[in-house]
Amino acid sequence: GRRLEGKIAVCTAAGQGIGRRVAERFLEEGARVYATDLDAEKLKGLEALGEVDTAVLDVTDGRAVGSYMKTVDTPDILFNCAGFVHHGTVLDCDDKDWDFSFDLNVTSMHRTISALLPRMLENGGGSIINMSSAASSIKAAPNRYVYMATKAAVIGLTRSIAIDFIRKGIRCNAICPGTIESPSLEARISALGEEVGGVEKARAMFVERQPIGRIGTPDEIADLAVYLGSDESRFTTGTTQVIDGGWSL
Ligand code: NAD
Repeated sequence: GRRLEGKIAVCTAAGQGIGRRVAERFLEEGARVYATDLDAEKLKGLEALGEVDTAVLDVTDGRAVGSYMKTVDTPDILFNCAGFVHHGTVLDCDDKDWDFSFDLNVTSMHRTISALLPRMLENGGGSIINMSSAASSIKAAPNRYVYMATKAAVIGLTRSIAIDFIRKGIRCNAICPGTIESPSLEARISALGEEVGGVEKARAMFVERQPIGRIGTPDEIADLAVYLGSDESRFTTGTTQVIDGGWSL
């Protein structure tokens, strides 16, 4: 049978990149999916793939998250994917940049989990999957000051949820990818291209970071998300699942 048959999943940032591919794979594996994103356009095409409800949801809008979550059936899987990469050191990060990154990358998860956890507990449990990054407390990357701080916070948040509800059927794990093909990675490669004299040179620099010799794919992250969402991972909680082609080796 399909690996997520009978399960209900709520996903944020399901419009493009990793979130999109995870939502698609959840559907392919038989889950019923609530796929949300800031941008309605990006959610197009998901309806064709299975039992899906799409909705515009800005995870930085606390009220919107609260009221949207009241409308969804209690999920077995909550996939918190929304996040933003701020480029620069501490000297490039003013208070506004800091607050924006923490709001989008961390507080958003506090909002979705606070809204859904009571019902997930009533339901007997569920799997919460939070998008962190290898660039966090795991691996230092230049010019990722507030990004690394937020993604390290996601790991702490994840482990805290895991320990507090471990006897109540809730599992909570973090995914820590290295460099993964996505529209936002393309934008980062183009930006670096401006600095180093060419997009191809910039791409080669991103490839070179991985000892494995290539950039990862959203499908590879989706494999892990399906595993963490399914009962196959029932003994796994509080983990930081590094999936980075050896970047952090
Ligand atoms: P992306 O950055 O290309 O797309 C992000 C998606 O998030 C878009 O669909 C966008 O509309 C949506 N979004 C932006 N602001 C939002 C908001 N306020 N509310 C709801 N949705 C919003 O996708 P990606 O690169 O696959 O990144 C997805 C996640 O994976 C992020 O948390 C990112 O930090 C993490 N990640 C990515 C990589 C990578 O190399 N791509 C590596 C490690 C971690």
